[in-house]
Order: sequence, then C-alpha cells, then structure tokens
Amino acid sequence: MHDSDSLSCMDSSFLNLPSPVTQLHHPLLEAKKLQLFIKRDELIHPHLQGNKWRKLKYNLLQARRNGHSTLLTFGGAYSNHIHATAAAGHYFNFRTIGIIRGEQHLPLNPTLQDAKDWGMALHYVSRAEYREKTSPAFIEKLITQFSDFYLIPEGGNNEFATRGCVEIIDELEDKYDAICVDCGTGATMTGIIAGLENKSRVLGFAVLKGADFLQHDVTRQLQQYTHRTFNNWALIPDYHFGGFARTKPELIEFIKEFKQQFDIQLEPVYSGKMLFGIFDLIKQDYFPDNTRILAIHGGGLQGLRGFAL
Ligand SMILES: *Cc1c(COP(=O)(O)O)cnc(C)c1O
Repeated sequence: MHDSDSLSCMDSSFLNLPSPVTQLHHPLLEAKKLQLFIKRDELIHPHLQGNKWRKLKYNLLQARRNGHSTLLTFGGAYSNHIHATAAAGHYFNFRTIGIIRGEQHLPLNPTLQDAKDWGMALHYVSRAEYREKTSPAFIEKLITQFSDFYLIPEGGNNEFATRGCVEIIDELEDKYDAICVDCGTGATMTGIIAGLENKSRVLGFAVLKGADFLQHDVTRQLQQYTHRTFNNWALIPDYHFGGFARTKPELIEFIKEFKQQFDIQLEPVYSGKMLFGIFDLIKQDYFPDNTRILAIHGGGLQGLRGFAL
C-alpha cells in the first residue's frame, strides 16, 4: 500500500509540519562570525513532538497497515517515548500498553498520569525482567498475556524510526555546514546522517556518561539502514553533566537564560545539554568562521515537569 493511502486513514494534518527553523541572534555569534539556527521539532505538537514523533510516525503506519489496533512498548517512569506513544494512541485511535520499568509509585508522576489519562494500560515489571524485554521468551509471555499487539521497541528505535528521522533532513530548505543533535541511543542521529548523504557534518551531543558505545552503535545502525559507512559525523562526549538526567546549577541557569533571550524552551535531559555544549564550543572557537550551524530541538518538553524550572 502507498504511504499516502495509509496517511489518509491516519490524519496527521493537525501536526505543525514541516517544523519551522528559527535563526538565533546573539552578540557572541556575531563576534565569532557564525550563524546558528534551531529546527523547532518541539513545536510539532504539545504531546507529539521531537524525535519521539519522528520515530513513531512510520511505526504507526506499519501497525495500521498490518491491522493492529494495539501498540505495546517499553520505558522508564519519565520516558518521553511512553508519553508520546500514549498520546499517539489517543490521537490516532490505538489501544496502548506500556511496560514500565520498576515499581508503581502513587500518585503517578505527570508523565504516567498523562499516559493513563490517554488510556494507556500501565504494566510494571522489575528491573531484572525489564532487561529481558527483547528476549523471545519475554515477548512470548507478553503475547500470551496481551494477545495481539504491534510491538515498538524501547525509545521507538527500529528501522521505521530511522525512516521518520530522515524526514528531519528532508524538510530542510537551506544548507548548513554542521547539524547538531542530542544523543541517547543515537537512533535519531542515524536517521539524520542517513538523510544527509554527506552534505553536512553531524555532531552528536551524548547525554549519557560513558557513551563510548555510541560510536559503535551509530556505525552499526547506519550500516543496517543504508548499507554504507559515513565519515561526516562525530560524537561530543563532554556535556553529559554527570550522566543521564543529571543536572548542574549552571545548566539550569543556562536553560532559564536561553528562554529569556530567545523565547525557546529547552529541557535539562537532552536539548539543554546540547545547546550548552554548542555555545561552549563556539566560545572555544571550535567552528570555523562563517559556519552555518543547525541544532535539532529533540522535543521532550513533557519531561520538564520533573525539574524545578
Ligand atoms: C529520546 C530523546 C532523545 C534521544 O534520542 P536517541 O534517538 O535515542 O538518540 C533526544 N532528545 C529528546 C528530547 C528525546 O526525547
């Protein structure tokens, strides 16, 4: 079936796509002769935004094409992906099941409360069980328990996700020298590199500490998706601020100032770390004169509610 056929039975015209690109104006950028732009994927929709929407799109189409009415996926209690999948179920009429890592805590945090309000059935599994989430035995058990469902891996990451992330690049009307992206698993970065076909450099800002695995994982994901290797990308490991979801006062301060100066909301888990890193690299003269830099805002603003911002 053709994409447009499936899309017509899944109306996504309420989404703000293609997402806009905003140029930032700042004395530092002028002094360093640089141009900095942000692709505003956080503006796609209040609940379906950033790379979590990009990764869901073709998974939803595939689920519908295969006649599935239920989506099942995995995540932690603050997961942007759980939140987006539950929202997708609500807006596109799928039942949703969330396999949540760890024990239930009541009252539910805002992420899980939204998910529940959108109709997601929440099933908690121990951390040990959660680690088995890709094993055939565990998936068999889920099939016995829930019967038919379309399985979306943790974080949404599969080849349909990559395909959705390629569209971040397809939407661009102008050329940029450097494209910056925040990296958890590197799946979004994979799609961006695949979509660019060597037309710009890609910088991936790792938000996890000890993200050496990313070099290998992005290379492997690229190979799987494109059957090619690319050398136009690099990982920046220096801005994790102590590890995943860890923050420092200077990061929180940066996010507040950024909002005041540019009227763009960042969050401290992903986009805040990337933009902090970009400005820090600019101060260190990392970018040659006249570089046009594009940062991809990864969305994830629902996660802000866990922070005092
Ligand atoms: C999930 C997420 C990421 C990480 O994406 P990967 O594809 O796993 O690298 C980055 N930014 C935001 C806002 C996210 O929600």
